[in-house]
Amino acid sequence: MKIVERVCPLCASASGHKLSKYSKDGWNIHQCSECGFIFLKNVPTYDAFVNDLAWEKSYAIEKERREQTAFLRKVDKLTRWRLSWFHRHTPDLARKIFGHGKVLDIGCAGGGNLPEPLIPYGIEISSVLWARANSEMRKRGGYAIRAPAVEGIATFEDQFFHGVFARSFLEHEINPVKIVKEAYRVLEPGGIMYIRVPNFGSINRRIMGVAWCGFRYPDHVNYFTLETLKKMAAIAGFQLELLNKISFYFDDNIKAKLVKPA
Ligand SMILES: [Zn+2]
Repeated sequence: MKIVERVCPLCASASGHKLSKYSKDGWNIHQCSECGFIFLKNVPTYDAFVNDLAWEKSYAIEKERREQTAFLRKVDKLTRWRLSWFHRHTPDLARKIFGHGKVLDIGCAGGGNLPEPLIPYGIEISSVLWARANSEMRKRGGYAIRAPAVEGIATFEDQFFHGVFARSFLEHEINPVKIVKEAYRVLEPGGIMYIRVPNFGSINRRIMGVAWCGFRYPDHVNYFTLETLKKMAAIAGFQLELLNKISFYFDDNIKAKLVKPA
């Protein structure tokens, strides 16, 4: 595994400090002193993600780790949010958000997130999952690309999509600003990017500390608060609309719509 150190992925500042409380096993969580963004300072490269950290593998390792730990097993039982953590089939959600048109699912896993009448496109780094998604998407007029997200999204022309779906994706992306800017580029005016990321500002994170479900070392590399997600949306030109306003502080995830002005 190759490890690289990065500057703040939001504002490119090199200054910041380590959050020792959340750093673990040599993985350093940092907070940028310029913009407040919290992120994993030392990250594995894309090669490592392809070979070692494809999500189905890291899920299996995580599952095993949890099963081996009595405390976390208890937490499992007590916390309903974990049950949906890897649940990727959310067809009603995407239909509700986008309604119609061509939609790109970034980190689409095996597909299945984008139901009729949406025309599904996807980007997936894992070869096993990509093959499954591509075969399903082709039947419905779209297709999936096997590539890291930054490379995959670059292959689409400007204003090609009505929607971009990024559920449980941006927390994994080494260059999230690039992805959000690219999403803006490939969306038509009035188009929508849906984002769901772990909510670093949640009450659960404060209670659970390092055992919070949002911490996964090293495959979660970005830890958003509503403030930093808003900053990122603004950098790309989007307007952010928070979807889980009422339950926000009790929710382990931030769910938001980024709208490209018409
Ligand atoms: Zn920063």
